Amino acid sequence: MTEVERLERRLLRAASRAIEDFGLVEAGDRILVAVSGGKDSYGLLHVLQRLQQRAPVHFELVAVNLDQGHPGYPAHVVEGHFRAVGVPYRMLREDTLTVVKRLVPEGGTYCSACSRLRRGILYTAAVEMRCTKIALGHHRDDLVETLLLSALYSGALKSMPARLVSRDGRNVVIRPLCYAAEEDLAAFAEAMRFPVVPCDLCGSQPNLRRKRVKRLLAELAAEHPAVKGNLLHALGKVLPGHLLDRDLLRRLGEARGDDPWLEEGDACEEPPPVALGRRSGGDA
Ligand code: SF4
Repeated sequence: MTEVERLERRLLRAASRAIEDFGLVEAGDRILVAVSGGKDSYGLLHVLQRLQQRAPVHFELVAVNLDQGHPGYPAHVVEGHFRAVGVPYRMLREDTLTVVKRLVPEGGTYCSACSRLRRGILYTAAVEMRCTKIALGHHRDDLVETLLLSALYSGALKSMPARLVSRDGRNVVIRPLCYAAEEDLAAFAEAMRFPVVPCDLCGSQPNLRRKRVKRLLAELAAEHPAVKGNLLHALGKVLPGHLLDRDLLRRLGEARGDDPWLEEGDACEEPPPVALGRRSGGDA
């Protein structure tokens, strides 16, 4: 088996597991695949096309590229890729860059405003195109970085969900690559010679906090290679009774009909082992 086949197999396995764990793809789905031209979204499209060929259920894919008006953005390169891989597609163009520049104060980072606008455009496009789901290319590293960023800088324990229903119920966002490692996606994109579009055309300030967290994780992973996998695993193994979210505990207690502080799972505060038998001192 060649290296590229090994990588493809790993990515397909990771995506299949996520799809099964969270019911991401269902019979009759029409999935809008958001493709920015980055390595991750090309990988996502590839994986979904492969799974479509072998899945026992029928679902449709429509690749969508959004040109946000960044100077020199080569939308034609992404369109050329869609044609080459034979996927139905739609090219969108909305100058969000001008809006973002107006919204963000001088010297600030554009990313959060930019992503919100992009998300809104994709939500509307999905409804117009009668798509039942929107697939995004976020991977394991995005999830664990977001977990740390949120805990360290926002004081909330959260990450990116594998499946998310929009507040108005009109859109369902799915992340089939949530178990896939970024390094596999990068190596696969290189091996497949995907025409990757640079992501710095927007001229945004670098997101320093995310970069810092990425570096921290890389340093920790160099000492202990399992740390990213362990963080991902932690996202799927939450012990609410060992956290301090009183509201969540109350709701859980109500749903279960028992004491919300009932010990659960692997207790992390086990009492120290006690030596049984006669005590040597005292008066008993
Ligand atoms: S890097 Fe640029 S294109 Fe990407 S989210 Fe940030 S502002 Fe938007």
